[in-house]
Amino acid sequence: MNHIGENLGRVRSRIDGACAAAGRAADAVTLLAVSKTFDAAAVRAAAAAGQRAFGENYVQEALAKQAQLQDLDLAWHFIGPLQSNKTRAVAEHFDWVHSVDRLKIAERLSQQRPQALAPLQVCVQVNISGEHSKSGCATDEAAALCRAVAQLPRLRLRGLMAIPAPTAPGSDPRAPYRALRELFAGLSGLGLDTLSAGMSDDLEAAIAEGATMVRVGSALFGRRQVV
Ligand SMILES: *Cc1c(COP(=O)(O)O)cnc(C)c1O
Repeated sequence: MNHIGENLGRVRSRIDGACAAAGRAADAVTLLAVSKTFDAAAVRAAAAAGQRAFGENYVQEALAKQAQLQDLDLAWHFIGPLQSNKTRAVAEHFDWVHSVDRLKIAERLSQQRPQALAPLQVCVQVNISGEHSKSGCATDEAAALCRAVAQLPRLRLRGLMAIPAPTAPGSDPRAPYRALRELFAGLSGLGLDTLSAGMSDDLEAAIAEGATMVRVGSALFGRRQVV
């Protein structure tokens, strides 16, 4: 087995352990492998070890990788900040978008989603820690944005995504994920099923608070070079 295969095994056991600790079924949580900055060969190695869903942050980088991996049946999730001039490429080349944080972006994605493809699966990203510089809609705007996105014909709203600020030492790592879960619970009329939350360092805290999809990069592929 390649080292990515071994890392996948370790991450899957962490997910299983966290599900067991929370009294949740092991298949309640999907692993999204975040392959940004890693090349197509790394994705191919993960796919050989059974991983199907991959997350990417940068459109050009992702399209180049997808072109090299067309022989594989993979699901591609866009998880990075999304500008208007990139929505068409994302609408045409991804299965999911986790980072919808304003209506204008959602409307463009819906207009630009090709009819031949299934609806684009989307999550609304929430700035759950209220950081000034971060992407994500404000917590108190999330419900209205979700209701508007749910109306768009070529999108299917699946849930919420968040990237909490790092918690200070000694403070509860579950607190931001608990806030996200409460927000999610308040949207029950929309039929949502996805809470995209938790990364390499804190997936246990997120799963304890109901995450259904964890986005894991460095624990699978290794440390990223700073670009
Ligand atoms: C890079 C990234 C991840 C993965 O982070 P790791 O700490 O490497 O697991 C998850 N989600 C988003 C949105 C990212 O940009």
